[in-house]
Amino acid sequence: MQTRIAPRFENTTEMAEADAILRSCVHCGFCTATCPTYQILGDELDGPRGRIYLIKEFLGGAPASRASLKHLDRCLTCRACESTCPSGVRYARLAEIGRAQLEKDIPRPALEQLQRSVLRAVIPHPERFRLALQLGNLCKPFLPEALARKVPELPRMTPVSAPAGVSAVSVRQPSVLALAGCVQSVLTPQTGAALEQILDRLGYAMITPPEAGCCGALSLHLNARAEAHDYMRRNIDAWWPYIAAGAEAILVSASGCGSMVKEYGEALQDDPDYAEKARQVAALARDPSEWLLEHLEQLPLDHQERGPLAFHSPCSLQHAQRVLGQVEKLLQRAGYALTAVADAHLCCGSAGTYSILQPELSRQLRQQKIDALQQGQPCSIATANIGCQLHLQGGTDLPVRHWLELLAEAMQPEKS
Ligand code: SF4
Ligand code: SF4
Repeated sequence: MQTRIAPRFENTTEMAEADAILRSCVHCGFCTATCPTYQILGDELDGPRGRIYLIKEFLGGAPASRASLKHLDRCLTCRACESTCPSGVRYARLAEIGRAQLEKDIPRPALEQLQRSVLRAVIPHPERFRLALQLGNLCKPFLPEALARKVPELPRMTPVSAPAGVSAVSVRQPSVLALAGCVQSVLTPQTGAALEQILDRLGYAMITPPEAGCCGALSLHLNARAEAHDYMRRNIDAWWPYIAAGAEAILVSASGCGSMVKEYGEALQDDPDYAEKARQVAALARDPSEWLLEHLEQLPLDHQERGPLAFHSPCSLQHAQRVLGQVEKLLQRAGYALTAVADAHLCCGSAGTYSILQPELSRQLRQQKIDALQQGQPCSIATANIGCQLHLQGGTDLPVRHWLELLAEAMQPEKS
C-alpha cells in the first residue's frame, strides 16, 4: 500500500513502525471475511481493511474524526485478521499506534473518560476488584436483572500465591514462575491451584511472587500506555531474581495475559533500562499447554474416558500466541471427548473490557459462540482465559471452566 506519514507525525520509531506496517498491506481484503465485527455490521470500515485505511488516512494528514474513532473502538483486537492475512500485516500493533494518536486529537466525552478511568483504577488491583465485587453482590437484589447477571459471585476459596518474602536462593529446583493475574486471582483461584497441583506432580515448584500483578494488557487496550509499561516493569522486577536463580519458564494460565507478557520485549524496546530484560522475560513466557506438552509422558493421567466437552480457544491463544491444538491434545490425552465447534476462529465477544464498553456487539458475539459450542451437546465447556470463561458463563447454564482444572482432575490420585 502506498503511504505517506504527515510531517507532524514523522521522526519517531513508532511512526516508522506504523509506516512499515501500512506498506505491508496489499489491500487484498482476505482478512475481512474472518473479522467478527464486519460479519455482524457489514460495513467495510468495521473490518480490518477499512480500519487500516482509516489509520492510513489519518496518519497521512487527514483530519481526525469521531467516526474513525468509533470504527476503531468497535474492533475487538481479536487478531483473527492477522491469522488470515497472507502478507503478515501486524494489524494489532498498527491499531494501537493509530488509536493512541487519534485519541490525542479527539478527546473522549467526559463520561467515557470516567468509565475508562474507573476500569483502570479497579480491575488491575485485586483488593479493589474484590471490594467492588462484594459491593456489587450486596446491591444485586436492587439491580435490574440484566445488570445483576453481570456481577460475578466471589468464590469462597482464597487466592493462591507464594508466601511473601520467598527468596530466590530458597527456591526448590526445578521451578517455574507463574502469574496469578488480577481478575483470575480473585474470581477463579482454582485455576492457579490446578496448575500448581499439576506442576507438583511433575516435581516442579511453582513460584508466584506477590509483587507481580496485572500484566498491563487492560491499560494498554484502554490507551494508558505509560501505566501499562509501569506494570510490565514491576513484573519484570518481581520475576528477575527467580529467573537469575534458574526458573525455567514463566507460565501464564490466562491466555490474554500470556499474549501480553510474550510481547513485553516489543512494548519496552525503547526503554534502555528494561529492553533486554523484557526481551528475556518474553522469551521465557509460555502458555501452560506449550510447556506441559513437553512433559506429556510424565503426566500421571488416570486414562479414564470422560464426557463430551467443547473447547473454546480464546483469540489471545489462537491468534495472538498462535498456540493451536495444544490444549485440545492435552484434554484428549486426559480422556475428554471433544465436540466439533463451528467457526472456532471467531471471538466470543469478551475481549478484555469490550463486553463492558461495547455491550450490544459483545452480547451478539457471545450468543453466536454459545450456539456453536453447544451444537455438539457437550456436558461442559472449557477455555483458557478468565475473561472468556466469565463472559461465556453469563450466557449458558453449562459449566465453563479453565482447561487446567479439567486436566488436574484427570490425574491419578497421589499415593500416600
Ligand atoms: S491486512 Fe492482510 S489480508 Fe487484510 S487487506 Fe491487508 S494484506 Fe490483505
Ligand atoms: S482485530 Fe478482530 S475485530 Fe479487529 S479488525 Fe481484526 S478481525 Fe476485526
